[in-house]
Amino acid sequence: MNSTNDASSKSSSFPTPANGRGRHAVVTGAGGFIGGHLVKALFERGYESVRAVDKKPFAQWYQFDERAENLVLDLEGKEACERSVEGVTDVFNLAADMGGMGFIENNKALCMLSVLINTHMLMAAKDAGVQRFFYSSSACVYNADKQTDAAVTALVESDAYPAMAEDGYGWEKLFSERMCRHFREDFGMKTTVARFHNVYGPHGTWDGGREKAPAAMCRKVLEAQMSGDLSINIWGDGEQTRSFMYIDDCIEGILRIHDGHFVDPINLGSSELVSINQLVDVVEDIASVKLERDYDLSAPKGVRGRNSDNTLILEEFGWEPRTSLRDGMARTFAWIRGEMLQRNIDRVQPALPFPSATTEASSESENASVASVDAYLASEPKAGDFPGSDPRWKGLRDSA
Ligand code: NAD
Repeated sequence: MNSTNDASSKSSSFPTPANGRGRHAVVTGAGGFIGGHLVKALFERGYESVRAVDKKPFAQWYQFDERAENLVLDLEGKEACERSVEGVTDVFNLAADMGGMGFIENNKALCMLSVLINTHMLMAAKDAGVQRFFYSSSACVYNADKQTDAAVTALVESDAYPAMAEDGYGWEKLFSERMCRHFREDFGMKTTVARFHNVYGPHGTWDGGREKAPAAMCRKVLEAQMSGDLSINIWGDGEQTRSFMYIDDCIEGILRIHDGHFVDPINLGSSELVSINQLVDVVEDIASVKLERDYDLSAPKGVRGRNSDNTLILEEFGWEPRTSLRDGMARTFAWIRGEMLQRNIDRVQPALPFPSATTEASSESENASVASVDAYLASEPKAGDFPGSDPRWKGLRDSA
């Protein structure tokens, strides 16, 4: 057995299903960004049932599909994994403790603990006789020495070896990739692995510290517009390069890879390379604004350059992610703007009661709250008001 991708295991004899008929899926990490979209996509594909599992309480799930069996379970434990695979034919294992560069550079132990999820999910799936197991790996498995130049040569799958992955998060992903392979080779369970390159889109994390560059840039540009402080803080010198994949492409890729014949790790990413400065250009253009750039050279930056070489996915699937960065970012920007507006409306009407019995008292306080919201919206913003999503910012109000 060699230490790189094994060419002999490229194609498998596992059957390729045409649709979701007769299939029962579990999506782990379903309360998160990609998992939430995947649950919906599986129903659209005709899956008979979908179980959605996440450790977060339901109130924190990014999307909640009532057609699914929704469970709150911490999948670091084996019993929780066993529960999550009961009666299931297909596993989509997306749960991981992760975030953007700011998170993974400062939380290496937490990132590595996701190995418990993947280990126990594989063991539980094998014991339950699961037919197909998809694992979401990452471009962070690639050897750091091959990503030192902003004018990067796109990464091909074999560039993960000799191994020098992103410390913490990347090593865990690489180890789990190999575990998938050995469960397939030793126990005959079909496992597939996609290496995602920076996924973005609506219903993703956009604040709080775990957000990635595309969402962070949308939020920062909106904050600048709303506060009137027309500057933006950029991590590093902005010349580091990346590619960004829109969520719809990611979901389509997952479904193709999971059902396909190719079983070794494969890139799932856009090949449209941009610098972070160019990403900011795109968002400024969408927002019709020009900001002064303030570069923070001490902030986490990750590797200097990274792009996805899509030769293999084109060869094997005749397909690659196609949404342009401009189109995907326009949709993402619009969604984040709506979220910021909503959050601020929620913030200014804390007294609004839940609709309950229509007593005189509750309708009185409801009227009072509505009146105070109206008064707030009609007032002039003052210096010191939270700038992030003030609905009084005219451009926002008019176009929301
Ligand atoms: P996300 O953080 O939005 O979703 C991950 C979900 O996993 C979260 O909701 C979290 O609560 C859940 N989770 C974490 N630990 C858990 C546990 N012990 N038990 C149950 N649930 C748990 O992330 P995402 O962007 O949707 O990423 C999904 C997968 O794709 C992850 O495995 C991630 O590593 C991988 N990936 C994502 C990107 C990207 O750009 N978003 C890039 C490369 C790889």
